[in-house]
Formats: sequence, C-alpha cells, structure tokens
Amino acid sequence: MSRAYNFFAGPAVLPLPALERAQKELLDWEGTGTSVMETSHRSKEYDALHNEAIALLREHLNINDDYHVMFLTGGASMQFAMIPMNLLSQGQTADYIHTGTWSKKAIAEAKLFGKVNVAFDGETVGLTRIPKQSELNLTPDARYVHMTTNNTIKGTQFHTIPDTGKVPLIADMSSDFLWRPIDATKFAMIYAGAQKNVGPAGVTVAIMHKDLLAQCKEENPTLLKYKTHADKNSMFNTCPCFNIYMLRNVLAYMKEIGGLSAIEAHNRKKGDLIYNTIESYPDFFSSPVDKESRSYMNIVFRLPSEELEAKFVAEGVAQKMLGLKGHRSVGGIRISTYNSCPFEAVEKVTDFMKAFAKANG
Ligand code: PMP
Repeated sequence: MSRAYNFFAGPAVLPLPALERAQKELLDWEGTGTSVMETSHRSKEYDALHNEAIALLREHLNINDDYHVMFLTGGASMQFAMIPMNLLSQGQTADYIHTGTWSKKAIAEAKLFGKVNVAFDGETVGLTRIPKQSELNLTPDARYVHMTTNNTIKGTQFHTIPDTGKVPLIADMSSDFLWRPIDATKFAMIYAGAQKNVGPAGVTVAIMHKDLLAQCKEENPTLLKYKTHADKNSMFNTCPCFNIYMLRNVLAYMKEIGGLSAIEAHNRKKGDLIYNTIESYPDFFSSPVDKESRSYMNIVFRLPSEELEAKFVAEGVAQKMLGLKGHRSVGGIRISTYNSCPFEAVEKVTDFMKAFAKANG
C-alpha cells in the first residue's frame, strides 16, 4: 500500500490507525454481522458508540455537563445561519470579528436576523493578521461575539482568546478544533465541521453552554433549534452514524497518543519546520502573514511567480504530495498540517521546498 503525502485543507488526512480500525470493522461491527452504516441508530451498539464519542470530546476539552455536546449536519456553514437564527433578533446586535473568508460568510448570514457590529474589520489590514485585544470594538450588550479561531484560507490563527467580558463568545473552530489544549470554559459555544482535524465531512460538532442554550428562541423550525438536538442527545432524527463512528475512531486514537498536549507539540514541530524553511530562502519564499498571527494548521506562502507556483504544485503531485495549491480565491501555496499530518510528510515537503528553491531560484 502506498499512501500519499496529504496536505489538503479539508477534507483532509485522517490517522491511519483510525482508518484501519474502520477497515477491520467494516463488514462486522461489534459482532453485529453488519457495518455501522447498516445498523439502526437506536441500537444499543450505536448508542454506546455515540456516547463514547461525546465522552471523548468532553475529556479532550475538559468540559462538564454545563455544556451540551451536539452532532449536527449542514457543515459549519449551517452554523453561520443557525447561530443568529437562534440567538439574534431584529433590534439586537451581535459582534463579529472579521478575520477571513469564513467570518465574512458568517457575517452575511447574521445580517439576515439582526444588527451586526464588525468588532474588527480585518480587511483594513488585508486579512494578514489577527487583532489585538485593544483593537476590538465590542458592544457592551451584544447578544454574542463571534470569532473564527483559525483562518483556513488566509493562514492566520488566534494565539490568545479575546476577552469579551460578560458577552458570550462563540467560536468557529472548524480548522483548528482540538489542535492543542484550550480553556473551553472561555467559550459559550464552539463549533467545528469535522473534516479537517477530527473526521470525515458530514458531521459538525457543536458545544454549547446551557446558559446560552436557555437564551435560544423557541419560534424556529424544529431541526434548526439547538434545543431539539440538545434535548435528544443529537438523535431527534437519524444522525450521521458513520461519520460519528469515524469521529470516535479519531478521538480515541488522539487519546491513545497522549491527548492534546502531545498533539500540540507535534503540530508546533511541524509548523516551525515549514516556517523556518520559508525564512531560510527569503529571496524565493515569502509569507503574506504577520509573524505573530501565523497559523499552525494552514501555512500559506508565495513563490516569485505564478508560473513557479504552478510548477511547484505539479512537481509536488508527481512526488505524491497532494493539496499544495492555495485556495482558488488567493492563489499561492498552502500546506495544511492538521493533527493527523505526520511529521515525515512535513520533512518530505520541506526537503522538496529546499530542492525546488535551489533549482529554480
Ligand atoms: N469555517 C471555516 C474556518 C472553514 O475552514 C470552513 C471550510 N473550509 C467552513 C467554516 C465551512 O465549512 P463547511 O464546508 O463544513 O460548511
């Protein structure tokens, strides 16, 4: 078997042991004689798996029953709408910290429901950096503050969590969910599409404090109310069982390898190697991102010309390095180094960067 070096931004690389477990269990799962895809979500086997996935999330994030852990569908994009639909009404204000492409989409959805105060407009700095606390123009009685902890396309990441006082903080963590230990209690809500750090596309993890849940509006369609999912342990309707199964496999593997502290060390080692390589060839590689705001999940950089960037991507593919092309909206190169990207893959790509710079510089 020969696996590629996978740097896709999402869906993205998953841990090999989690995939092998699925392969082994595919045809006969838990002795049921069926796969998890073919088993009722009301079965006792599925129920145990579902609750194990929730328990693992609680353990990784160190959160108690004050928080509901939900499995939703519709991607992180659905959350852009569901959050204001549940929490924002005409005449009320929500604060949004705008740091990238995805926060812009979240803002557009929120405007359908109420007033949006852009607490920091990253466009004013070309979306090249994260704001300092002193730059946030927060509304004292906002319904909530929304932020994107990692900007998948622009390659920036928050390294300290903003202080929003008494106003609930909601974070889209889609592209850096569980990349390191965090103090989850600083957030009233965390959500993340699984397909970058923790599983396949098709399930979104939403973690909400019960006090925020209590503030959600009643007059919404059943499936678009958080309360529906929280009350029924995310099994009001048929949940995406196989996706949750894969999520469980990944979360269990993450625990096996030492949890979030070990994962953070691994992620920092990978990111530092790539950023050091960029800096070692200043006439060839350039980073558009402010140093303090660099992402450890999506590393973006430029080569001297678009022609060289196209050549870099093509030669990468020829050497089984996939997903090196920057997002189509910004161009350039992007190396995504999510939790499951092995260090050997980063060694491979940085050796390639050096050889390419020498040959083409
Ligand atoms: N937020 C962030 C930070 C993302 O990176 C993405 C997807 N790349 C989304 C939201 C949208 O996620 P989905 O495709 O699951 O709706």
